[in-house]
Amino acid sequence: MDGLRKQVSQLFPCQTVNYPVTSANVYTINFEKGTIMGIFSNNVMGFYNLDLQNTKIADFPRYDFAMPVKPQARYLTPVAWALSFPDVWKHKTKISRDLKGIKPPYIMLCNHNSFLDFKVMTAAIFPRRANYVVALDGFIGREWIMRQVGCIAKRKFVNDLYLIRQTTRLLDQGQIVVYYPEARYSFIGTNSVLPDSLGKMLKYLQVPVVTLLFHGHHINEPAWNQVSRGVPVEAELKLLFDREQIAQLNPAEIQDQVVQALTYDDYAWQYENHVCVDYPQRAEGLHRVLYQCPHCKTEYRMSSQGSQLRCEACGKVWELTEYGQLKALEGETEFSSPPAWYEWERENVRAEVRAGTYTMESEVLIDSLPNSNGFVPLGKGWLRHDMNGMVLKGSHLGEDFEVVKSNQSLYSIHVEFNYIDKKLDCVDISTLDDSYFAYPLSKDSSVTKISLAVEELYKLEMEKE
Ligand SMILES: [Zn+2]
Repeated sequence: MDGLRKQVSQLFPCQTVNYPVTSANVYTINFEKGTIMGIFSNNVMGFYNLDLQNTKIADFPRYDFAMPVKPQARYLTPVAWALSFPDVWKHKTKISRDLKGIKPPYIMLCNHNSFLDFKVMTAAIFPRRANYVVALDGFIGREWIMRQVGCIAKRKFVNDLYLIRQTTRLLDQGQIVVYYPEARYSFIGTNSVLPDSLGKMLKYLQVPVVTLLFHGHHINEPAWNQVSRGVPVEAELKLLFDREQIAQLNPAEIQDQVVQALTYDDYAWQYENHVCVDYPQRAEGLHRVLYQCPHCKTEYRMSSQGSQLRCEACGKVWELTEYGQLKALEGETEFSSPPAWYEWERENVRAEVRAGTYTMESEVLIDSLPNSNGFVPLGKGWLRHDMNGMVLKGSHLGEDFEVVKSNQSLYSIHVEFNYIDKKLDCVDISTLDDSYFAYPLSKDSSVTKISLAVEELYKLEMEKE
């Protein structure tokens, strides 16, 4: 019984578990408002691992990505349902299914907008179970249960061979393996760039490919302000390729069709479907993505409050309507669609990159994530990103360290907004054995701009080849 108790308490790593509550040892789990804990929680407890503060970086224990991941433990599948269905029902989720009779094993590709993705995915494949790829920061303090539930850990935007090995092994065992190939929450409810290698990998795996496209998950809970607005959502589960099609198509054709299948615009969906968001603070945080004023072109001086976005440089104000459109309070509305504003910022970054003038630097706070035990604070350092790539410099226990990423090694980068207790934006610069979360301290910086520059620098690099 102690073993089960331990499992239950690891599953719900805080005081929300009461056991035993009856003589028959029936375990009940109390969900307090806003604090649903455990595997299906985005509320990471105990982010920091201070035990390693006096250990040299070279001696940090590292996460074991090679250890085989097993299919989801059967006793946890009903737990996953119990943690998923209440939210799926709350959002009146409409799921259409068109799998044409395909049975596992298969690869499932989903778009990625919020934690609700995991819950709707669990409902979409009901009553089947799946293995899914989760970033290592999702494992903090709960590696055991994450492994039991069948999660495959990954460092973001790093090519590792373990992922393919784990996937192959699980497909051989007849499982569904779920990928979120965008690899991070969408910034503005539209599709992010996918890795060039995806088509090649799907060709290599030789199994059917299924897509699960969520609509409204960004509108419900945008990455820049992760509070659920309680809006109705939809999902489309479709067979994209059967085995024969995978055998016939070449990797580039597979890639093209995947990109097409995972193209979406949540704001357009919201407008077309008249989805009303009357949450009074609905624009708060939007300035983290829309960091440049389209009126006076000033960067990094946007702010947001309530349902409004404002440029502190020129004073122009925009209202985010209940139907997801932007409207200038006075004068011209430059962009009524938030994604169009974001794409305009990309064009400006692209112009800097093409002119060879892009550069940013800032003092940063650095946390390292060598394994699943939590972030090791490494204090202050310096981040520079320019035409030559990215360089992160710091010092730990009197020894300097440096992380260098070339433009061609990064097709995109993981960004977090208003992250954990720091409530600052950060970029995650990963290597094969570490992830450095760097929080720029300069007011004249934006992680959204860094991310756009990473993507545009990569494109430029690829054109040279
Ligand atoms: Zn302005």
